[in-house]
Parts: sequence; structure tokens; C-alpha cells
Amino acid sequence: MAGVGMPTVKLPIAGGCQCGALRYEIAAPPLMIYACHCSNCQKQSGGAFVLSATVMEPSFRFTDGAPAKIEWTSDAGNQRYGLFCGDCGSRIANGQTPSIGVLSVRAGTFDDTSWLRPAGHIWIKSAQPWIEFGADDILCDVQPTEYGPFIKRFNDKVLFIEG
Ligand SMILES: [Zn+2]
Ligand SMILES: [Zn+2]
Repeated sequence: MAGVGMPTVKLPIAGGCQCGALRYEIAAPPLMIYACHCSNCQKQSGGAFVLSATVMEPSFRFTDGAPAKIEWTSDAGNQRYGLFCGDCGSRIANGQTPSIGVLSVRAGTFDDTSWLRPAGHIWIKSAQPWIEFGADDILCDVQPTEYGPFIKRFNDKVLFIEG
């Protein structure tokens, strides 16, 4: 349900890398946005966690530049790949092989980050000790098996409209 002061976000969502060589658009609303505290996200970002937007793969496209690619095995044992800028190194999105139909886009690369808020936190078993979670945050020790609560909470707190 829409709350008071609920952010309204215009589609498509636009974003890009630090140097601007890579630009992208997301045409459809993300399914959810969550914070991942896994060790790979900490290494890739150099930060405490990554804000990840789960988007339908066909809704995402690069509008400028061509990404470089790296592959690895995730903490959950999946074959993952990352798309990043070969010039500045910004990670833009992660996907899985074989495809699971969605990409994890680094929400910190959105042009407008003012409306971002994670629906929940995953891999909190490797979260840095100073992080304090909210009393009503959805928390998962490792990779969730069920994302329904994340999707519902995310959609309760943001409204997407066609730009
Ligand atoms: Zn770049
Ligand atoms: Zn992660």
C-alpha cells in the first residue's frame, strides 16, 4: 500500500559508470532492491555491502559503451558474471550462467539514488559488525530461498510511473 511520502520514480531508470563511458537504462520497475553483505560484494565494491536492484534481464540495456566481463563462483555456489566498465572499473551488473532471467544491477550506479532503500539484508552472517539493522528489516543469514517478502516490502515503499 502506498504510504505518505512514498517516492515516485520515473521509468526508465538511467545510470552509468563513474567515468561515463558506460550508460544504461532499465525500462521496467525493479522487482526489489536489497543489501547484500556477502564477501564477494564487499571485495567488488570496497564497501560494507552492495545495494542490489533485481531487474528483469530484457528490461536492461546499455545505451553507451560496451562492458567488460568477469566470472566467478558465488558464496552460494552459483556461476556468476559481472559487467563492468573497462576504463574506470565500476561494476554495473551481475548475472548468472545459465540465465535465471534477472540481473542484479548496482543501485549505487543509478543517476538518482535519492529514493533507494533496501527491502532487506542478505548474507548478514558476513556483515561488518558496526552495521545496525532496523527492527522490522528482513534479515537473512545467507542467500534467501524465498524472495516474496523482499518483493512485497519493496513494492509497498516505492511507486514507479512511465516517464
Ligand atoms: Zn567508466
Ligand atoms: Zn553479495
